[in-house]
Amino acid sequence: MDPSELYAEVIIDHQKNPRNYGELENKDKEVKLTNSSCGDEIFLQVKFDGDRIQDIAFYGRGCAISTASASIMTELVKGISKEKAEELYEKFVEMARTGKAPSSELKDARVFQGVSKYPLRVKCATLAWHALEKVIE
Ligand code: ZN
Repeated sequence: MDPSELYAEVIIDHQKNPRNYGELENKDKEVKLTNSSCGDEIFLQVKFDGDRIQDIAFYGRGCAISTASASIMTELVKGISKEKAEELYEKFVEMARTGKAPSSELKDARVFQGVSKYPLRVKCATLAWHALEKVIE
């Protein structure tokens, strides 16, 4: 299978069945971010346990890229420390902007490596990650 087809499948899967979608019963913090160039809007909620992201959820409306990226991001950072999440944020944004070879730590989020060629799509793919950076700061 051509890798780009596989990547597209991952994106479609997460868009159709977004993980951690909805609202948390007990949230510590919520941020809202919008991407005006596409119309994407995300609300990201977190529950902390000390320095660890105990639980995370998102809702809102967005295109396939922004929804899939948010879904994959929440899976990656749930249960890890804020410091580690910040590291992943930096790696993801760098990959999306430059197309640089992604770190294996980004797992499924590596499907967005190719968005660097489409500046408007970079904003869609990074929206949830910018929300993450804001909510853990
Ligand atoms: Zn979008």
